[in-house]
Amino acid sequence: MGELQSGIQYLSGVGPKRAELLRKELGLETLNDLIHFYPFRYIDRSSIHNIADVVPDMAFVQVRARVVSRNLITIKHLSVIVEDATGRMEMVFFKGTKWNFERLEPGRTFIFFGKPQVFNGKINIVHPEVDVPQEGSMAQGTLTGVYASTEKLRNGGITGKVMCRLQAAALGLCLGEVKETLPDYIIREKGLVSLQYALKNIHFPADSYSLQKAQYRLKFEELFFLQLSLLKQKYIRCRAEKGIVMPKVGPDFHACYNALPYALTGAQQRVIREIRADMMSGHQMNRLLQGDVGSGKTMVAVLSCLIAAGNGCQACIMAPTEVLAQQHYANICRYLSPTKVKCALLTGTTGAKDRRAIHAGLQEGSIGIIVGTHALIEDDVVFRRLGLAVIDEQHRFGVDQRSRLWAKGPGDAAPHVLVMTATPIPRTLAMTLYGDLDVSVIDEMPPGRKPVQTMLIGQNRRNAMYKFMREEIAKGRQVFVVYPMIFENEKMDISNVEQGCEEIMQAFPLKDGYKVAIVHGQQTPEVKNFNMSAFVEGRAHILVSTTVIEVGVDVPNASVMVIQSAQRFGLSQLHQLRGRVGRGAEKSYCILVKDVKTSSEAQRRLELMCRTEDGFEIAEEDMRMRGPGDLEGTQQSGLPVSLNIASLARDGILLSEARAYAEKVLDADPGLSRVENAPLVSELKKDKYNVKDYSTIS
Ligand code: ADP
Ligand code: MG
Repeated sequence: MGELQSGIQYLSGVGPKRAELLRKELGLETLNDLIHFYPFRYIDRSSIHNIADVVPDMAFVQVRARVVSRNLITIKHLSVIVEDATGRMEMVFFKGTKWNFERLEPGRTFIFFGKPQVFNGKINIVHPEVDVPQEGSMAQGTLTGVYASTEKLRNGGITGKVMCRLQAAALGLCLGEVKETLPDYIIREKGLVSLQYALKNIHFPADSYSLQKAQYRLKFEELFFLQLSLLKQKYIRCRAEKGIVMPKVGPDFHACYNALPYALTGAQQRVIREIRADMMSGHQMNRLLQGDVGSGKTMVAVLSCLIAAGNGCQACIMAPTEVLAQQHYANICRYLSPTKVKCALLTGTTGAKDRRAIHAGLQEGSIGIIVGTHALIEDDVVFRRLGLAVIDEQHRFGVDQRSRLWAKGPGDAAPHVLVMTATPIPRTLAMTLYGDLDVSVIDEMPPGRKPVQTMLIGQNRRNAMYKFMREEIAKGRQVFVVYPMIFENEKMDISNVEQGCEEIMQAFPLKDGYKVAIVHGQQTPEVKNFNMSAFVEGRAHILVSTTVIEVGVDVPNASVMVIQSAQRFGLSQLHQLRGRVGRGAEKSYCILVKDVKTSSEAQRRLELMCRTEDGFEIAEEDMRMRGPGDLEGTQQSGLPVSLNIASLARDGILLSEARAYAEKVLDADPGLSRVENAPLVSELKKDKYNVKDYSTIS
């Protein structure tokens, strides 16, 4: 090794104390770590705005201004007036007020960088970045890198300027040692700059063109290796796992298809063709089926199961909750009535006698399709020949559970797997989260679905809302009222819901004939089921709940979804909740009730909800607003690797490019055994590309 692996503390200007700080705050230990810690932004020192020219629709501005006065209005509100030769403006801080108060001494000049906005008719910048103007700094060009920092780092003396100096020193010591990670032919074909050039220019761009080249190289590399590692697993699996070959469609498929009361949508037809091709191929299918709530995934699942049946195999459909399993079962039995396939339901509450009969039926093969909950993966469930496992609403299932289903295959081959999810995920994210799954998307709704009218109101309009609810109930409709999970502590959340329920019960008293059911996570499964069923079966008018109803429950008669403290929900969760209504013939409504304290970002989310019902548009927007790591449905799983420079939200095109290129490389050399691909193999061995197996992402 050489300098690359030596610790940061040996760099001049860094002792053990600062080294510890860098390790703790940024996870940087070696010089190699340090030089891969890139600026997240660059200040173009050639463009300083005049205060007089600053207008609020500018994305960002940089002014060089002298502090005139500062005023600590409250401990959490610092106002600083600054001026340049052309005018004055205000800088506002709600965080770090004390620290900024101290350093922003009147008379001193700073560079302020931030987004201008209008407040009380005047322009200000909230939380500007503040830099001390420096002449002759490390940067050779006019672009200076800005590194992510923390208060602790700054207090420990590691300012932006010091970070630049450390980078310069580290690069000076070890840049020459950095080995190229990409084979020559890729660098040539993609027209990339070398890694050394890229590293130098990512920290100290010679000019904006060099910076672009450096960024492109580093982002491409990162996305390329990510996709390569995911796809490699897929190639290996395809070769290792033989799939059960299902060449026929079979009479039951046709019987069901011909009896359908409606025509399949184009998207449903396309997806079924994709699934069919997989099941015929001889490879094990591992397909993710994405489709918005109500897009008709159940039908696709049933027809897929019937393909299995047509080829002498059994199929199972696993749902995350008892109520969902029951609902699936009822629907599926209807679809199956024109066929000869026998269907059964197996859940935690199936009685011992029925259970024994079902176990026997599965083992001898008389049951063709089994619908159920986790009960399906218990050891005593043995199939005669399981050919297809459908997993609904996948993010509720863990790793382990999926692999236990796999293990129930016939032995000579793994069952095909179809995972269905109603959480729309932006395409770029799906490609990464499920990089080695094939993804099918139902991007078309069945005809005749009525739009859900969405309204945003404040708490002060509660009585008007109750009046509206009464009118709907008088029409024979039902109403959902959902509360957010707010507190860390589940008990406190429950008391929030219970309090909400009290209020609802006061507004909708039993003596007037109203029935209110409540469902939350602290109830026993029996109580939960009982209350849920009361609503599903139409015995209760209102269902008050936490977000447990989020997934899949179908109550076509429910026409109103009230979401309390709506500002606390993420976009995709709001979208899921809204999808619970609008399933019957009547016009449906979603009422978003916001609290007084609603941030402007939350306000934007809620307004977006009022504007569109398109789940993919909402998901894209959610990713743009919050970054991919925070997206719901991905939180539990996390991204398979953390990206250092590329962004799934912004670099979608480059991601597709990298994926296509990774496919090309693997098509030419599936085992990466050619000499020219040796650098790829050694790079993939690094921890950061040690992508979790896809079966752990669920
Ligand atoms: P998802 O599971 O994707 O949320 P479902 O499979 O429950 O959606 O379907 C929602 C509703 O749409 C069901 O009542 C179903 O019968 C109906 N449906 C499905 N496909 C079609 C279609 N092609 N045309 C009309 N209605 C359909
Ligand atoms: Mg469904």
